[in-house]
This record gives sequence, structure tokens and C-alpha cells, in this order.
Amino acid sequence: MLKKTDFYINGSWVAPAEPNPFPVIDPATESEIAEISLGSSADIDKAVTAARAAFPTWSATDVTERIAVIERLLTIYRAGAEEMAKAISTEMGAPMSFSRDEQVGAGDWHIEGFLKAIHEIEWERPLRADAPSERIIKEPIGVCGLITPWNWPMNQVTLKVVPALLTGCTVVLKPSEIAPLSSLLFAEMIDAAGVPAGVFNLVNGDGPSVGAALSAHPDVDMMSFTGSTRAGSAVTKAAADTVKRVTLELGGKSPNILFADCDLKKQVEGGVRFCMENAGQSCNAPTRMLIEASAYEDAIAIAKETAEKVAVGDPHEEGDHIGPLVSQTQFDKVQDLIEAGIAEGARLVTGGAGRPAGFNRGYYARPTIFANVIPEMRIWREEIFGPVLAMTPFKDEAEAIRLANDTPYGLAAYLSTQDPERARYVALQLRAGMVRVNRAPFAQGSPFGGYKQSGNGREGGIFGLDDFLETKTVAFGDMFS
Ligand code: NAD
Repeated sequence: MLKKTDFYINGSWVAPAEPNPFPVIDPATESEIAEISLGSSADIDKAVTAARAAFPTWSATDVTERIAVIERLLTIYRAGAEEMAKAISTEMGAPMSFSRDEQVGAGDWHIEGFLKAIHEIEWERPLRADAPSERIIKEPIGVCGLITPWNWPMNQVTLKVVPALLTGCTVVLKPSEIAPLSSLLFAEMIDAAGVPAGVFNLVNGDGPSVGAALSAHPDVDMMSFTGSTRAGSAVTKAAADTVKRVTLELGGKSPNILFADCDLKKQVEGGVRFCMENAGQSCNAPTRMLIEASAYEDAIAIAKETAEKVAVGDPHEEGDHIGPLVSQTQFDKVQDLIEAGIAEGARLVTGGAGRPAGFNRGYYARPTIFANVIPEMRIWREEIFGPVLAMTPFKDEAEAIRLANDTPYGLAAYLSTQDPERARYVALQLRAGMVRVNRAPFAQGSPFGGYKQSGNGREGGIFGLDDFLETKTVAFGDMFS
């Protein structure tokens, strides 16, 4: 069995302060495939000390030097794509084709995006034309603690590590203990790219001990967190005493509004597939489909047919099927919510509790559609994080907007209509960080982040770089006039 019990601290692989082995489980087989260590506050101290010591030199390097390091990293990342795809597929269950194209591809896309966006940073500028001696200067914030989830491992890790390093920050990464293999491989890539000792450090561990120690550490200047709203709130509280910057990318329950004038077949099929992609484990998944009443029954029929065509299968195989959920905990949570949907009176259109036919092990869930879901139900309000869609009719635009916004979350929102004026009006009424009309794609470097309990950060491109920068004002008297 693979043993990956060391941490990457100060440019070397080091044993944890105290041995604390932890199994990595293959969600397709429920068997242990690797052993890592859970760290402690002593390991975090060591990593933060290394990051602090490296900060003065790294932050003072010319940005072209940092760009050259990240360009080398991108080359190495691309060369190691197949190994990375296997690591992700094994640790969190994404089928190989999806893991290679989407999971690994997302990291590639973000690194490339940051390498373009770094040239847009205005490191120094005058406050205004009439105040030329007052200079606005951008500087790296310092030592950053980075905590990431398991559902899109390299997407999240590259969205944090790369902008931090490019702007001149030094980091301690704590990846998800559920899916740590991809991050351990990423650390090897960082090492091979020649990132100087101490600039990047990795400590594995769970949230309540290692994550909390990092968040509360007095020598950490900023926490960048992606994960559940519950844990994001815990990080914020732990960081409060030291008044560090905290950026949060949290959960979602994103609405997908379909007006009757849209291409119903295309949008319902696309909405169902997007909801179930990655086995429903995406923060921005369109999990609440709101349909104009006149198209509602047709939409249900299309959704049923589409969900019944979503194949569930072995992640180690190629294909466009979905894999298992990541863990027993996640499987139990999804089952509980499916049962709650039935018990609370939603109409079960297809799927339901239990594993799909033919599976007696592995955390596989059934693609499930509920109709007649109302805001009082748990499946309306709670992030399920499984292949489960909730459908609800609306009578007019005002009701669609009210229902869409009736959630504690505000990550993404989707809407489809042929009417440009309506599209613009509704998009601007939605309390969400990212809106896609007729499923138009976002360009590289567009800001990813949410409103309300979906967080406060914006990752990707120049917005993601900016999160890691401080703003300094220097008034030089008459020196620049
Ligand atoms: P999680 O909150 O359980 O864990 C995420 C990370 O936080 C892990 O590394 C975990 O060890 C750590 N953690 C847990 N408790 C902690 C604590 N008290 N202090 C510090 N760290 C702690 O989430 P998860 O189950 O790994 O991931 C799924 C969640 O992530 C979903 O809610 C999903 O919507 C969200 N997510 C959001 C985005 C986004 O960009 N908005 C992207 C991906 C995932």
C-alpha cells in the first residue's frame, strides 16, 4: 500500500512531529489504498516558521522571476497530467475521463489564466492625476494559510497556491484529508519547479486540529478557505483574534430558472447533466430547477428521461458515466436527504434512496429527480452534494426571482430565456456571485465566488491575485509633481 506519511516543509519531506496514520479510501471499493499522516499544531508551527522565514526574500524577488517559476510548474503539471488524473480518480471517485479533462484540466486552465493576469496588476500608481505624489502600492499580504476541499482538488489548490506565489506570498497548504494524494503529487511538482525552500509548505491533517491551528496562528496573515459554510465560519472565528484576512469560497444551492420561451429540451437536459456531473459534488451545481408553469410537466418528462440515461460506473474506467460519492459520510448524508425529500412530500420522479442496481459496495448514489419541491423542504434549503435535482414551477418573473433568491446561499445562478431584456433584468435581480444566461460559458480568469453564505472571496484571474495583495498608500510630498 502507498505510504505518504511525510509533510513538505521548508523544501524537504519531513516526518510528522507525532505519528498519526490515517487511511485514504477508494470510494469505488471502500478499501484503503494509501496511508497519510494527520499533523498537529507542532507541524503547523514548523511550516509557518518556514513560510515566515522565506517571505522577505520571495516577496522581494522580481515578478518576472516568480512568473518563470510558475511557467516551469505549468510545464511539469502538464507532463504529469495522467498521474494526477489517476490520483484524483482514486482518492475522490471521479471517472478517469472526467478526472483528466475536467479535474486536472481545471488546474491547467487556472495556472495559465494567472500567468496572463499577473501582467494586469498595477503594482504602483498615483491616487489620481491631481494627486501624483500619493502613490498606491500593491504588496503581497504575507504568509497565507490555504485550506481546500476534496471535490475539485486541483481546481482549488491551483486557485490558491498559484496566485499566492505569483504575488510574492509564502504559503502553508492543508488539503482535504479525504483527498490528499493529488496535493502530495502537486507538492512534488512544486519541488521540481524549483520553488525556493519555505515558499510552499504542505501539512496534512483534519479540520478541527490542523485547520484550526493554521487559522488561529499569529504568524499567518491571511486564510484562504474553500469548503463548507460550517467550516468556513469556524475558520473565520479562529482567525478573528489575530484579525487576519479571511477569504471564503463556500457551499451553494444554485437556482436554474427556465422560462417557457427557452429551448426547453436543451436547457433541461443540460441542467440535469450539469447538476449530476462529478456525482453532484460541485459547489456551483444548478440544483434547484425553477420552470415556468406552462412548461413544467414537459420539463419533468425531459428531466426524468435525462436522469435515467446518466450512467453510474467504475471511476477507474473511461467514459462519460458518473462515479461514486466520495465517502461513507457523504453517502449517508445524501441518503438522508433523499429520504427527507420523500418524507416531506416531494414528488419522486426518478431515482431514490439506496445504491443503483448492480452495486453492492462503493459509495454509489442513484441519479434522483424530485418535483414539487417547496422552500419549506430540506431538499430545497440544504446543499445535498449528490446527484439530486429539485424541480419547482413558477407563475411569473417576480415569483421566479423570489424563489431563486430564497436560499441562504448565493454562489451561482442560471437562467434561460430568448428575451434579452428579461435576461438582463432577472440576472441583475439575482443575489449570486455568478450568473450564466442560456448556459453561456465563463472566460478564463473570470471571478469565481459567492454572495451571502457562499462566501466573500473571488478566485481566478486578476480578482484572485488581488485577494493576496495589500494596498499601501505612500504620500511623497512634492516628489512626483
Ligand atoms: P469541509 O468544510 O468539510 O472541508 C473543507 C476543508 O476544511 C478540509 O480541508 C477540512 O479538513 C477543513 N476543515 C473542516 N473543518 C475545519 C475547521 N473547523 N477549521 C479549519 N478547517 C476545517 O468541506 P468538504 O466536504 O471537503 O467540501 C465540500 C464543501 O466545499 C461543499 O460545501 C462545497 O460547496 C464547498 N466548495 C465550495 C467551493 C467554492 O468555490 N465556493 C468549491 C468547492 C467546494
